[in-house]
Amino acid sequence: MENSIDTKCLHEGYTPGNGEPRQVPIYQSTTWKYNTSDDMGKLFDLEASGYFYTRLQNPTNDYVASKLCGMEGGFAGMLTSSGQAANFFAVFNICEAGDHFIASSSIYGGTYNLFGVTMKKMGIECTFVDQSLSYEELSKYFKPNTKCVFGETITNPTVNVLDIEKFAKLAHDHGVPLIVDNTFATPVNCRPIEWGCDIVTHSTTKYIDGHASSVGGAIIDSGNFDWMAHADKFPGLTTPDESYHGITYATKFGKGAYITKATAQLMRDFGCIQAPQNAYYVQIGLESLAVRMRRHCENALKVAKYLASDERIAWVKYPGLETDDNHELAMKYCPNGTCGVLCFGVKGGRDISIKFMDSLKFATIATHVADCKTLLLHPASHTHRQLSDEQLAEAGIAPDLIRFSVGLEDPDDIINDIKQALDKI
Ligand SMILES: *Cc1c(COP(=O)(O)O)cnc(C)c1O
Repeated sequence: MENSIDTKCLHEGYTPGNGEPRQVPIYQSTTWKYNTSDDMGKLFDLEASGYFYTRLQNPTNDYVASKLCGMEGGFAGMLTSSGQAANFFAVFNICEAGDHFIASSSIYGGTYNLFGVTMKKMGIECTFVDQSLSYEELSKYFKPNTKCVFGETITNPTVNVLDIEKFAKLAHDHGVPLIVDNTFATPVNCRPIEWGCDIVTHSTTKYIDGHASSVGGAIIDSGNFDWMAHADKFPGLTTPDESYHGITYATKFGKGAYITKATAQLMRDFGCIQAPQNAYYVQIGLESLAVRMRRHCENALKVAKYLASDERIAWVKYPGLETDDNHELAMKYCPNGTCGVLCFGVKGGRDISIKFMDSLKFATIATHVADCKTLLLHPASHTHRQLSDEQLAEAGIAPDLIRFSVGLEDPDDIINDIKQALDKI
């Protein structure tokens, strides 16, 4: 029988042999030694697998990627230097200039900028869609050059739950893969591949690291998408790569094609590699992820219920609340809990919300989210300040929205901190 996710957190990815270190070793080396020129030549031709330079691959990273891959139920995975790099690589590995893709408009502000502004300069067009639209309405956004669909399991910061099955069907009916950023739910609370998603991404900076120590990202491929069945759409995977003596990824590497291409081409050329030292911190974080996620969800539900009962609070949004408009989706995709992030507004509007934030004692104003310590920010004046009011509205972000990331403290202390800050306004 397959181990549960709690056990996978501890045992996937790395199994030491007799007399070998119990914890994943940090391979703090840029390069590897080979006995003959031919031995190393084969690696450069992708004819043999092995390490040669840490800009492309490092064993510490691979142990950790393989743990996360096992937890997600994927076929192959890789770590990247950040969540931004993971989402960029995930899309750029299959889209090139002249291509188009579709993304939910509720995604993280950084990803929204990447897709809508920076990738546009590269000639790749993204259409942002309201993820609550029906299958029929969403179908209208596909074009002949559409190459993938992108969403977040639980959106940052509006904590809406993606209907993964609806989006997977939509993508597959149009011959393209679905990419899901699973940062907020983590594989402990949702495994998008089980619902038809093809490629999962992460900002490991958040719950996975969990202790605000290292920025990182990951891409996990299910290996399920049949590139050759849609060969004309994905020439990068289905036609020869001249930069590797004409190998064709999809035919040579099968289910491993997507990750091999992302490593061999994108890591080689962009170099957004995770530092092995940071991969080690990600490894430490993953070991306790299941235990922490449970507590984050319990605490967040308590805080959400308290907020819903305090008349000084204008509104509260948390998919774990039975009254939430995403509760049904949450129960389907995350039956054991969603995440520790919620959002709310304080009555009196934007200025009062800011005064409230400044009056908190240990709940800290920080850009970060999904951490073991309680953190909060005001997207309209922080993470999303580059967006126009129109774009803010499109992303579903109210001007008074406070993103509150419930930590692992005693929930009564968190609630008391909120109460004393409300008393001061
Ligand atoms: C933070 C975040 C990212 C970006 O990750 P970094 O590690 O900060 O680069 C991407 N997606 C989501 C959902 C995030 O919360």
